[in-house]
Amino acid sequence: MSKKSAHFETNVIHEGYDSKDMLGSLATPLFQTSTFTFDTAEQGEARFAGEEAGYMYSRLGNPTVKVLEERIAALENGERGLAFASGMAAVSAVLIALTKANDHILCSTGLYGCTFGLLTLMEDKYNITHDFSAMGTKDEVRSLIKPETACIYVETPINPTMKLIDLEMVAEVAKEFGIPVVVDNTFASPYLQRPIELGCDIVIHSATKYIGGHGDVVAGLVVGKQDFLDSVAMTTQKDVGGIMSPFDAWLLLRGLKTLPVRLDRHCDNAEIIVDKLRSHPKVENVYYPSDKANPDHVICSKQMKRGGGMISFELKGTKADAQQMLNHLSFLKIAVSLGDAETLIQHPATMTHAVVPKESREEMGITDQLIRLSVGLESWEDIWEDLAQALNKL
Ligand SMILES: *Cc1c(COP(=O)(O)O)cnc(C)c1O
Repeated sequence: MSKKSAHFETNVIHEGYDSKDMLGSLATPLFQTSTFTFDTAEQGEARFAGEEAGYMYSRLGNPTVKVLEERIAALENGERGLAFASGMAAVSAVLIALTKANDHILCSTGLYGCTFGLLTLMEDKYNITHDFSAMGTKDEVRSLIKPETACIYVETPINPTMKLIDLEMVAEVAKEFGIPVVVDNTFASPYLQRPIELGCDIVIHSATKYIGGHGDVVAGLVVGKQDFLDSVAMTTQKDVGGIMSPFDAWLLLRGLKTLPVRLDRHCDNAEIIVDKLRSHPKVENVYYPSDKANPDHVICSKQMKRGGGMISFELKGTKADAQQMLNHLSFLKIAVSLGDAETLIQHPATMTHAVVPKESREEMGITDQLIRLSVGLESWEDIWEDLAQALNKL
């Protein structure tokens, strides 16, 4: 396709690739190569000098990876995309690029466990401090911005508590101070939420999750302004080196084509499971973004197309009950990660958020009885039957 469509469902299949450029190949070819040959020494010189467009070495760019980068940029409505070896390679490349020693980062309360680990490392090594905020109002956000604040870093929906942050509101405050807003959009995917359209600056994905969707790739993506991502590509990507392999880009292009279809089904199933969980006597609380009982559902309807495929719920009971419930499941899989065809269930306090100290965990609302569910694409009847029999045994 030569012109970007107005429709996400078309761009997710066509953007960034024209089969005419590739001998008519319908599927994007896999350029599984480390390096690229030059016709002459002078051509090599011109490429390295940036005077001639073309590939040199796959850490500096690869044609298969580039198709994915262009596609994700189109889907998030940003200027440029960049692909990384993992979500954390993407998070670290962005945060290292945005900060210097003694800076400060303002974060949403509740972050992916390893992002929390990275912030701790940056504080220990470079005195880059951080604060957490629920970001409920403009004044709450303003009150925590310091002269040395380099960026605002937000996850919404927040993992695993499904609290939401109003991205448009945060972006407005950030503009007052001239600082960028970085959004980890992994839980929503660009099909459900597009932070750049809401005024945010940089979007990060763990493409391992909904973008890949099939549980076979670990990868990360970033979308943002051309200038910023050009500089990341030439510094914290090129020199730190967490680049995506061409084969992973190929798998992601394959998975991505069905993102809207998959996500509609994830959402359909999740909405039903939320209702069922809520009426189960062993369940104390259910957390789901678009659920009317969630105080943040107003924000959800403002910025998300639907509630997504992630649910958390709290049992009436203890850590032992939460672990017992997982052990009683018959076909649902006990695993971290999310966004796969298979329903995945995990215990945040001892798995994804085990590295977070208990007090911080409790501040984030991650109790020992909290269970996180990534609702898969199986029949909802089978998903519920397995959950219900495990709950009934408690
Ligand atoms: C998984 C995840 C990450 C890290 O991504 P990897 O691909 O595992 O490195 C970051 N943020 C969120 C919200 C995630 O779910």
